[in-house]
Amino acid sequence: MAEVRALIEGYRKFYARYYASGDPLYRDLAQHGQSPKTLIIACSDSRVDPSIITESGPGDIFVVRNVANLVPPYAPDVKTLHGVSAALEFAVRILEVRHVVILGHSSCAGIAALLEPGKTDNTDFIGMWVNIAAKAREKTLAERRPDEAPCETQHRCEKESILLSLSNLTGFPWIREKVEAGTLKLHGWYFSMDDGHLMEYDPRSGHFQAVKT
Ligand SMILES: [Zn+2]
Repeated sequence: MAEVRALIEGYRKFYARYYASGDPLYRDLAQHGQSPKTLIIACSDSRVDPSIITESGPGDIFVVRNVANLVPPYAPDVKTLHGVSAALEFAVRILEVRHVVILGHSSCAGIAALLEPGKTDNTDFIGMWVNIAAKAREKTLAERRPDEAPCETQHRCEKESILLSLSNLTGFPWIREKVEAGTLKLHGWYFSMDDGHLMEYDPRSGHFQAVKT
């Protein structure tokens, strides 16, 4: 119970800061609705909370989190529950965000599971889910150097899966149209947890470049 009590204690501080203090922020957001300009698709990993990493406040970013920050292909004909696609549709078509960021990270357990398919043999959903990025695994393994350390292979696969998700985004017709019209921009970010660096994908060079700190 101690873990949950700590969260309730955190909530009390939140209430004191945003409501009891008279701060109008949440009341305004409740009355006028949200209008975030950016959708961030991040991993469920407890260490890579996009609000914390970007120091965003309430109402600033619309967030989708899932195992390994993956975007599935556009597949409206497949009758399954499209949680990520529904969130994408809401953010892009209803909220009309101007940016979509795929935020990947180092030490991603989802990508580790993708690289070692045997690990997920006994799972109900994880293996099937991370397999969305099977093409990223294939490309990573095909380009592996004989002397490459396993952590480097993992880092490359984490980045390849970001690029695959960016590519899957453009398979959604209402995303592709906005990107082509210049009203929506797609971004690939990679958070290196060990040293705290955030890297941005530069489509011109084809590399991830560290953001200056
Ligand atoms: Zn992860």
